[in-house]
Amino acid sequence: MFKKIAVLFMAAQLYSCSNAPKQDVSNSNLPKSEPIVAKLSEHDPHSFANSKECTVKHLDWEINIDFNAKILKGVAHWKIENKTGTNQLILDSRNLEIEKVTLNGEAETEFTLSAPHQVEVFGSALIINITPETQVVNIHYSTPKNAAALMWLEAEKTNGKRQPFLFTQSQAVLARTWIPCQDGPGVRFSYTADVTAPKDILVCMSAENPQKKSEDGKYHFEMHQPVPSYLMALVAGDLEFRSIGQRTGIYAEPEMADAVEYEFGLMQQMLEKAEALYGKYRWEQYDVVVLPPSFPFGGMENPRLTFATPTVVVGDRSLTSLIAHELAHSWSGNLVTNATWNDFWLNEGFTVYFEQRIMEEVYGRDYSEMLALNSYNGLLEEIAEFEQDGHSEATHLKLNLKEEDPDEGLTSIAYDKGYLFLRMLEETYGREPFDAFLKEYFNTHAFGVMTTEEFVEYLDKNLLSSNTELKEKCLINDWIYSPGLPANCPVIKSTKLDNVKKELGILTEVLKMNYPIITDTTGWSAHEYIYLTANLPKDISADQMAKIDAYFNFTNSSNSEILGQWFKHAARARYKDSYANMESFLVRVGRRKFLTPIYKALLNSPEGYLQAKEIYLKAKPNYHAVATETLDGLFEEYEKENKD
Ligand SMILES: [Zn+2]
Repeated sequence: MFKKIAVLFMAAQLYSCSNAPKQDVSNSNLPKSEPIVAKLSEHDPHSFANSKECTVKHLDWEINIDFNAKILKGVAHWKIENKTGTNQLILDSRNLEIEKVTLNGEAETEFTLSAPHQVEVFGSALIINITPETQVVNIHYSTPKNAAALMWLEAEKTNGKRQPFLFTQSQAVLARTWIPCQDGPGVRFSYTADVTAPKDILVCMSAENPQKKSEDGKYHFEMHQPVPSYLMALVAGDLEFRSIGQRTGIYAEPEMADAVEYEFGLMQQMLEKAEALYGKYRWEQYDVVVLPPSFPFGGMENPRLTFATPTVVVGDRSLTSLIAHELAHSWSGNLVTNATWNDFWLNEGFTVYFEQRIMEEVYGRDYSEMLALNSYNGLLEEIAEFEQDGHSEATHLKLNLKEEDPDEGLTSIAYDKGYLFLRMLEETYGREPFDAFLKEYFNTHAFGVMTTEEFVEYLDKNLLSSNTELKEKCLINDWIYSPGLPANCPVIKSTKLDNVKKELGILTEVLKMNYPIITDTTGWSAHEYIYLTANLPKDISADQMAKIDAYFNFTNSSNSEILGQWFKHAARARYKDSYANMESFLVRVGRRKFLTPIYKALLNSPEGYLQAKEIYLKAKPNYHAVATETLDGLFEEYEKENKD
C-alpha cells in the first residue's frame, strides 16, 4: 500500500552558498543559525543534485571498512563536469559525517549541509563551493553508525560464524547514506575503489572483482562502464569464488558454496541464451554473490555481481528464475536506465519480459507460462488492493512519486503490468519484429537513460507506426497512464496450473464436506505447490489448515516460496501448529517480499498483533533498513487504527 506522506514540505529558495552559514555537520552541537532548506531537483524529484549544471563523471573512492565501529571512513574524489560555469556542486547526503571538502590538489573549500528533508530518505543537500575551473572535488567523510544502506552482521549471524559480514543495498535512494553522490538514476559515472578490510575478508564490488582473498586486506577495483549511484555495491565477508562457466561464477560462504554452485549451475547457459535474444552482454563477467538471509530483496542487479538471497538456494533449481531476472537487468536497467524512479517500470517491466524469455528458452514454454500465471495472480490481487484503498493511481505504469520515498513504487505494477504491456506488443506485432525492436532499443540507448515519454516516442517511431491499424489496438495510453489492466491484456495459458486449479477446487469442496483429502499431484514441480498455497481460500479455518498440513506437510517445506504463502494463511487463520516454524522463518529471513504479507496477516487480530510484536522484537536486528521501514509502517498503521 502506498504510504501517505503529508505534503508539508515547502521548498524554499536555496541560499547562495557564499552567504550561507557553515553548518555543524554533526548537526548535534547547537547550530548558530537556521539550517538551509534545499530544493529537490526539477528533473528528478528524489534528488537534490544540480546535475544539469554540474555533473559527476568519475569517482575514485578510498575507504576503510571498520567492522568494530561499523563505519566506512575515507575519501570520495569526484571528477566533475561543470557545464554552466556554476559555483556550486550539489550532491545528496544522508547523515554522512563530512570532515572536510577540498578541491583539485586539496585546497580546502566551504560546504553546507541543508536541513534534512521531511521525507527522511531524501537526506540533505551537500552544497560545495567550487569555481568554474574546479575539476576534482574531494570529500573526506565517514558513514554514521547505522547508515541505512549498510547491513553489518556479527560473525554469529553468518553460516561459518568466523568472520563478520557487510553488504550494501543502494536502490532506490540509499547510495547517499554511504557515498556523497548525485543520487539519481539519471546520472552515470565510472569508478575505481581502494578498499581496506581486515585480513581473511574478501571484498567485492559492482566492478571487476578478485577471486581470492588478498594477503593484506587491501583491494583495488575498476569499473570502466558508467553506472548510476543505485548500482554502487559492496560486499565483504568470508567468501569464496567458484567458476560456473567461461564468463560466470558464484561467490558464497564456504559452507554454502557447493549448494550454490549446483543451484546456479545454468548461469552460463542463461547468459548465452540472453545474448542470443537481445545482443552482447556488455559487462564482461557475470557473477552472483549469495548473501546471508538478512538481504531484503530476492536479488539486486549490481552490475557484474548480482546480490542474491539464500532463500532461492533450495536444492532443486526451482527458484532460479531470479537469476534470469537479475541477469536480464544487465540490459534493461543497467544498460538502459529509467531516468527517474517514476519511470521504474522501464527497468522492471522490461526485465520481467526478458526474464520470461530466458526461462522459456531454458525450460520451455509450459514452464515459463506457469511462472507468468503465478505472477499474474499476484498482480490481480495487488491491483484489487490498491483500488480498494483508493490508490488506483498507483496502478499506472508511469508513477508520480513526488515527495514520496521512491521505494513505495516497488510494487508488482512496474514488474508484472510492465511485463504484460510488452507481451501485448509482442502478440500484436509478432515476436520477430518485436525482438528486433527490443534488440535495437538496447543497442541504441546503451549506457543511457530513458524517460517514459521518450520511450513512448521511440516505440511509436520504431514499431507502432509500421502498422497504424495495429497501433490503434495497442491502447498505449491506457496501459501507461491509466489504472488497472486494459481490455487488450494478454491471456496467459498454463495447462499445468489449470490442472492445479482443478485439484484445488476439489480440495476446497472436500474440506467443506469434511471428507478425507485425496489429490493427484503426480509430476508436480514446486510451482504447482506455490500456486496451490497461494490460492487457498482466504477464509480457510485453522482446522482445515491442519488437514491440509497433515496431507502435504507445508509447515515443514524446504521451499521458501511455499513457506511464504503457507505462513500467510497460518497467520490469518491462527493455525497454531505452524507458529514455531513461522517464527523461526521470520527471525531468520529478512526478505521483504515474504515478511510483509506474513506480518500483515498477523496484524489482522489483537492476538496476532501481540504475536507479531514479540517476533519483530527478536527479528528486527536481522532485518535491513529497507525491510524495517516497511514493517515499522505496518505496525504504526495498526496502532493508529486500534488506539483504544
Ligand atoms: Zn528487477
